[in-house]
Order: sequence, then structure tokens, then C-alpha cells
Amino acid sequence: MKSLVAPRGAGGSSTSKPYITCRQLIDFIASYRDNELTPDQRTEFDRHLAVCPSCVAYLKTYEQTVLLAKAAAGDPVPDEIPEPLVKVL
Ligand SMILES: [Zn+2]
Repeated sequence: MKSLVAPRGAGGSSTSKPYITCRQLIDFIASYRDNELTPDQRTEFDRHLAVCPSCVAYLKTYEQTVLLAKAAAGDPVPDEIPEPLVKVL
């Protein structure tokens, strides 16, 4: 029996392709947001997210940061201000 290095039991897909690393995923994030990933890159990106909760969390934080940056730049932020806060102001 050949013993190949297998991705840690996650997924259930029979591909033996290794997952991209967290670092590669982070390199992809800007292109991902701009829809500039190739279909292959997009697949690898999603495959990594499916097995890496910390990158999912990172991506969320990243998107929030981008939203905040836009708000700071004066763009309107859609539907994000809680009503009680609006009343107080
Ligand atoms: Zn990761």
C-alpha cells in the first residue's frame, strides 16, 4: 500500500490535490473581492475556506474592515446602523 499524504480527513472529495495554505488564501482575498480570481483559483479558495474556520473568520473581518474603510471615506453604508443608535443621535 502506498501511503500518500492526505488532507486531514476533511471534505470527502477524492481529489488528492493539496489545499492552498492560509497565506495563499490571504494573497487571493483582494482578487476574490474584485472578482478577479480564475475559476481554478476560486475553487481552491472555496476549498480552503471549507476546511479552515480561521480563514472564514479572517475573511469576515476583512470584509467588515473594507466596509468601515468605505464608511470612513464617506460612502453610504447600507442598512447597517441599528435603529436605537439613530434615535439617540
Ligand atoms: Zn486557512
